[in-house]
Amino acid sequence: MAALLGDVDPSAVIFVSGGTEANHLALIGTGRERVLVSAVEHDSVRHAVPAAEIIPVGPEGIVDLDALDRLLGADLRPALVSVMYANNETGVIQPVAEIAAIVRRNGALFHCDAVQAAGKLALEAGAIGADLVTLSAHKIGGPTGIGALVVTGGIELAPLLRGGGQEHRRRAGTENLPGIAGFAAAAAAEIADYERVAALRDGLEAEIAMTARDAVVLGAAANRLPNTSAIAMPGVAAETQVVALDLDGVMVSAGAACSSGKVGPSHVLAAMGVAPEIAASTIRVSLGWSSSEAEIDHFLRAWTALYRRCRRLAEGARAA
Ligand code: PLP
Repeated sequence: MAALLGDVDPSAVIFVSGGTEANHLALIGTGRERVLVSAVEHDSVRHAVPAAEIIPVGPEGIVDLDALDRLLGADLRPALVSVMYANNETGVIQPVAEIAAIVRRNGALFHCDAVQAAGKLALEAGAIGADLVTLSAHKIGGPTGIGALVVTGGIELAPLLRGGGQEHRRRAGTENLPGIAGFAAAAAAEIADYERVAALRDGLEAEIAMTARDAVVLGAAANRLPNTSAIAMPGVAAETQVVALDLDGVMVSAGAACSSGKVGPSHVLAAMGVAPEIAASTIRVSLGWSSSEAEIDHFLRAWTALYRRCRRLAEGARAA
């Protein structure tokens, strides 16, 4: 794993139970007086330190770099900044190298949740410029229940779990060896052809724009992951779309949906200033390395049929 992560020292890789635990270990274990997190972080970052300060984002979901600089400069206590590499709802990629430079200039630590970017963008902690990087195996085709926090530069970490001296005393408990082996096998696998996936995704979005002038792709103007698309069908609740598309054999999700049963207003879209009615009608469409043109056509047929049905119903209701 250390070799795959850009030849970091093996002791830099702390195996944990997943992205959630790695994020907690980074934010709490570094013990910084100030913790700053972006407004679009995954809940496992947002809720790790309740008193964390929030770094605002612009309309495309990208961290406001001036605001970050100002926030850091306004209070000189030791700080940790946590900004994700790519967002799980919109796929929007953050300018991590610029963020790293600002954080460093202000003498703070930089943690980057790279859970969504791994396997699609460079994995190396060095390339990201972060002091701490979170990874989760199940996002790159590995098993669930295993992840890692990569810690560079000999940063001291207080363990969240105390007991045995495993993982250089930074995470007690017998290591999950089968999980680690599966994680490493997934990380060593050849990177899939994501240019092909990006072309499929772009074609899907273009087709939707032609069919439905009022449809909105959130974060469309930003640099995004090749496989993620957050699409609003205004006036139709996301949950209705999820159920209708499911009946047509298409699986999409409403909002973050990393966990089952969680459907609520998206903090990511709210932070981007997206109107609540648009956010409530946004679904997340995720492609994979094996997605085919036939599957995209299938999705588009189902989406278009639903769109036309809902528009006819709305017109009928207006006429009545
Ligand atoms: N961070 C991001 C960006 C995620 O999308 C997820 C979702 O799975 C997590 C963290 C949590 O990872 P895990 O499910 O491995 O705890």
